Amino acid sequence: MERDLKQLIAQMTLEEKAGLCSGLDFWHTKGIERLGIPSVMVTDGPHGLRKQKASADHLGLFDSVPATCFPSAAGLASSWDRDLIRQVGIALGEECQAEEVAVLLGPGANIKRSPLCGRNFEYFSEDPYLSSELAAAHIEGVQSQGVGTSLKHFAANNQEHRRMTGDSVVDERTLREIYLASFEGAVKKAQPWTVMCSYNKVNGTFASENPKLLTDILKDEWGHEGFVVSDWGAVNERADGLAAGLELEMPSSNGSGDRKIVEAVRSGKLPEEKLDAAVERLLNIIFRAVDARKPGATFDADAHHRLAREVARECMVLLKNDDHLLPLAKSGKIAVIGELAEQSRFQGGGSSHVNPTKLENIREELAGVAGPAVLISYSQGYALANDDIDDNLFREAAEAARQADVAIVFAGLPERYESEGFDRTHLRIPDNQAKLIEAVAAVQGNVVVVLSNGAPVEMPWIGKTKAVLEAYLGGQALGGAIADLLFGVASPCGKLAETFPVRLEHNPSYLNFPGEGDRVEYREGIFVGYRYYDAKRIAPLFPFGHGLSYTSFEYRNLETDHSIIDDTETVNATVRVKNVGNRAGKEIVQLYVRDAESSVIRPEKELKGFAKVELQPGEEKEIIFTLNKRSFAFYDVALKDWRVETGEFELLVGSSSADIRLSGTLAVRSKTNLERRYDRNSTVGDLLADPAASVAIEELMKNSPFPLPAEDSDEEGAEMMAAFAKYLPLRAVVAFSGGALTDEALDAWLDKLNKVKVDKNI
Ligand code: BGC
Repeated sequence: MERDLKQLIAQMTLEEKAGLCSGLDFWHTKGIERLGIPSVMVTDGPHGLRKQKASADHLGLFDSVPATCFPSAAGLASSWDRDLIRQVGIALGEECQAEEVAVLLGPGANIKRSPLCGRNFEYFSEDPYLSSELAAAHIEGVQSQGVGTSLKHFAANNQEHRRMTGDSVVDERTLREIYLASFEGAVKKAQPWTVMCSYNKVNGTFASENPKLLTDILKDEWGHEGFVVSDWGAVNERADGLAAGLELEMPSSNGSGDRKIVEAVRSGKLPEEKLDAAVERLLNIIFRAVDARKPGATFDADAHHRLAREVARECMVLLKNDDHLLPLAKSGKIAVIGELAEQSRFQGGGSSHVNPTKLENIREELAGVAGPAVLISYSQGYALANDDIDDNLFREAAEAARQADVAIVFAGLPERYESEGFDRTHLRIPDNQAKLIEAVAAVQGNVVVVLSNGAPVEMPWIGKTKAVLEAYLGGQALGGAIADLLFGVASPCGKLAETFPVRLEHNPSYLNFPGEGDRVEYREGIFVGYRYYDAKRIAPLFPFGHGLSYTSFEYRNLETDHSIIDDTETVNATVRVKNVGNRAGKEIVQLYVRDAESSVIRPEKELKGFAKVELQPGEEKEIIFTLNKRSFAFYDVALKDWRVETGEFELLVGSSSADIRLSGTLAVRSKTNLERRYDRNSTVGDLLADPAASVAIEELMKNSPFPLPAEDSDEEGAEMMAAFAKYLPLRAVVAFSGGALTDEALDAWLDKLNKVKVDKNI
């Protein structure tokens, strides 16, 4: 419906306009009856709906209406499947319509800087490209149903420790290439109706009142059209927030924030046009939501449950499978061990806590899928509520394992270990679980461990097991999904969206996490996740992108449709992948890009494309990846833009970041016009490296006491001489020349050189 919002705003009083910029209560925006402005509801997210009935909180404490609980983002990300996540988004959107929710508060696109972050289960990945692509798919799905999303928590909110007061200190290139890129792709691709700013400060300024983040980057540069909502309680100084680009304060501040806005306008501190612009953004989304309402909408809870099971199967990652122990035969004796098989951990704690429509019981699902020919026993093994070892439970479990053909130990992280609101301090599973795995392995050679956790754990016990299935927090249908995978109803097809380190100390943020007092410095820079493990040659427990299948795949024919492109063009890379095993399966094909030579420090390789393909036995498919400037660029802080350096790039295609199957090269020519000026402190080496200056500097040096040796010279000391000259600033050439080159002559020479518009890239 067409509305003249400007005309509507003109009818609003200053108080009404300021009032619209904060919530009515915990979950609603304010309505203005006399002007026909409705109040709409926003609610958590992200992997299920948490619509609260009466009592409201943002910690997941009070009950909410029943809704489908899908796997949380850590699991969803392991599917690497844009279409699947879009389908989850569609189902979430349908549930929102049925519950008259206008905006679902998610997805979260924060980068997994450290595996300790208590909220990693709600985030997608350590890699910004993967994270942004999956966040975009989630947003597209939900919004296709006429329901908004809130991409959160913007930005650099990568820990729970002191989350409301902490200051994330991040250098600009790292912020752009890693932490912001995860949001940027999703904003540009999917236009979330709202973006939620985070609690923390970023480089000294609260995200909620950070004009650089909320206006310059998000609105002006990325073109975000919706509004920014504060995380619940993230507002510091309301008027500063509004000036910086924070349109909606949540929850209601009971008039206090509104008064501050009114005062700021009256005192002239805040231009009224700024407030009008904020109100227009708010009204635009509020009316969009109202126009898209589907009165009387319902959803099919059974169909969504079935989808949750299908999705969960795609999210779980088979980490290890020695001797092809899995899939299990549907006969014999199986000992199911561990309280997590009974009290399953299927979601995380905090604001994303969903009241599921139903919950599959793992033991029952195992029995159902295994069929009557399998005898399944159950022993508790440990008490989930504490870390104490109970000898009786151990004995009972070991005895059951001894009598069985296979033991499946259900282990993982209890909620008290991992939740919104606090970080872990180590990566271990509870001692009683770790010791139980060893006790079971002492009497049973065929041990399968199924893990339920939202983020990596250390596995000192892994050598004693034959198979490990990472089930993440699998949502309400995790039981069936685990059973389907263990018994081979489906082949595992998830891959890790994060690195599992051997030990916590190997993580790049280790020495600077969670920081000192309120200050956390991101000193590892761009070397987050596999970017670091690759560069340092530290073998992880399981690399980024790793995941096994019951079948196997062969890769061939990596080709590009151009061997050289300008960075304003795109290039297609194709590869053929074949299922060479004897059962159907899905493969996640990953494309990484490596800059062969760079003047800045760059990672060994970066993910720039991925695709998931389903293949029947013997079937082969061609996959096409389209690469563009951003696939080759780094963020140039001097230029304040993305830049490609002319030269060769390697394309690496593989089954994981550590299992590259094919590689090829491609040349990219930069079209960025760099107007580079030289001065007395420019070095001979830098001039030599610049095609537009090299001839001139060679000439200059001929007449100096340091003539540059010819490149192929075999004269004694030539190499040393060249190395010495490389780092000489021009003023030193003058100083050492004994008067042969004067300051005046150098200045004239520089003037002439700088007059030529230098572009080293042409
Ligand atoms: C969380 C957000 C959530 C909000 C509302 C906050 O504590 O950080 O992710 O959407 O509460 O529950």
